[in-house]
Amino acid sequence: MTVASPCALIISTPASILSAIANAARRGVLFKGGAHLEQMADITAIAFDKTGTITTSKPSVVDVLPYGNATQDSLLTAAARVEMHSEHPLAAAIVAKARECGLPITEPDSFQALPGMGVIGKLHNQIVLVGTERLMTSQGLEIPAFLLNERDRLEAEGKTTLFVYADVWLGLITLADRLRKEAPGIMQALRAAGVKHIAILTGDNERVANAIASQVGADAAHANLLPEHKVEAIKAIQAAHGKTAMLGDGVNDAPALASASIGIAMGAAGTDVALETADVVLMADDLSNIAYAIYLSRRARRVVVQNLTFSLSVIVLLVIGALGFGLALPFGVVGHEGSTVIVVLNGLRLLAFNPKFLAGKSV
Ligand code: ADP
Ligand code: MG
Repeated sequence: MTVASPCALIISTPASILSAIANAARRGVLFKGGAHLEQMADITAIAFDKTGTITTSKPSVVDVLPYGNATQDSLLTAAARVEMHSEHPLAAAIVAKARECGLPITEPDSFQALPGMGVIGKLHNQIVLVGTERLMTSQGLEIPAFLLNERDRLEAEGKTTLFVYADVWLGLITLADRLRKEAPGIMQALRAAGVKHIAILTGDNERVANAIASQVGADAAHANLLPEHKVEAIKAIQAAHGKTAMLGDGVNDAPALASASIGIAMGAAGTDVALETADVVLMADDLSNIAYAIYLSRRARRVVVQNLTFSLSVIVLLVIGALGFGLALPFGVVGHEGSTVIVVLNGLRLLAFNPKFLAGKSV
């Protein structure tokens, strides 16, 4: 009875998984459960959101181009007032620019964010819209040809371009963003970790998406995506390339985070919805931790398999010893307890796991 009781077998998995989760937490990678650690080990494709994930969450305003009777100040003031409650990184950049110019940013009468498109707000009796061409056409507005041409010209320079409307067309605001400093380096590390396909998903325009994809070395860029299109893109990638992780920060990424094999959210830059939906959170927003997490999850799986094999073998040997060879009880107890201690210690080794290629630096 003593030698057959499966203490070591039962403790094998939790001892290893908890150690791995603790190791990850020390690096600022929060796994919300052991199952996600297992999923992570089999990832063969990764999809990155662009704004706030591959790029910093701090874009800045580059051009403010008034149209018609608008001035730079009136354009920027109207845009900043309706953006002041938006969680989007572009909104923060517009508000910061308006503050920098000393413009008065007072509360809008109402505000609504349309993920992947922009915002609609009310200032007195004016309806104000800031966002993409899709936002404007979805509200039945026709954009003047001049502004569309300007948009094409500015996008060709790799800038994110927003239309601004307040009963009349006020003009364009362009923004530019920088890659996170670790972004170009991580793609190689991910491929070394066995990731076969890397895609960028963004609600932004095609030119910016392609430019970012080639700068970081991604395989594909999918642009002009609304939140539901991101879900479709994830499903297509999963069908073609196997288990897919999705990395994102925004409200617009939440459905895709939920439908991916594993959803990973940026912790510091991420919105609450993204943090809640994700299975894993990168607290430090350091993308190089993804390759680390993949290696850690594989090592954890190996340790679990070692432990299960070892503890089962010990039980079988002890049972054979007890039944067939009259193994004395004290030896049985030592074998039983000893194997339990050994699998726990083997699991605890994961606390010290530190892949060499990562030692002390970002990938
Ligand atoms: P990404 O997928 O790259 O994170 P989003 O889906 O959040 O980008 O946004 C897609 C596009 O929608 C942006 O490039 C911008 O044109 C527009 N947009 C989204 N949110 C806002 C906002 N708060 N203000 C203005 N434009 C926005
Ligand atoms: Mg984003």
